[in-house]
This record gives sequence, C-alpha cells and structure tokens, in this order.
Amino acid sequence: MIVKITRDECVSCGTCTDVCPEFFELGEEDTRSQVAEQYRNDGKRDEGTVPPELEACVTEAADLCPVQVILLT
Ligand code: SF4
Repeated sequence: MIVKITRDECVSCGTCTDVCPEFFELGEEDTRSQVAEQYRNDGKRDEGTVPPELEACVTEAADLCPVQVILLT
C-alpha cells in the first residue's frame, strides 16, 4: 500500500498522527502531516510505503481525515 498526502490541503488537525503515530507525523516547520522518515519513498515526505502491520491504522487515519487528503493506492 502506498500513501500520498496532499500536504497543501492538510489542516493540521492531528487526527492521523493520533490514530497512527508510527506512520504519520506533523512537520516541524509547517505542522502539516508527513510520512515518518523510515517509510518515505525516495525521501519524499508526502509519499510512503505502508508496512503490512500498519495498514489498518493508516487506513483508519485516511478514513478519518476531515479533508480527505490521505490517498491510498
Ligand atoms: S488527518 Fe488530514 S488534515 Fe488532519 S493532520 Fe492528518 S492529513 Fe492533515
């Protein structure tokens, strides 16, 4: 499973980081959601690969995001 976060539209609510803190974090400078460093694709903070053990919580975070900017493929 691949995650892409449309960071420009993130409203920094913190839901994804509460639901799945192993995978999501808030950027230090802009407080928008980003992928935790160890799961990033090519170092991109808006895209990452989800390990099987985190698929459930990442999916829940995507479902709960109030502006639906966490995209799963
Ligand atoms: S749940 Fe959505 S709006 Fe809230 S911090 Fe995460 S990506 Fe941003």
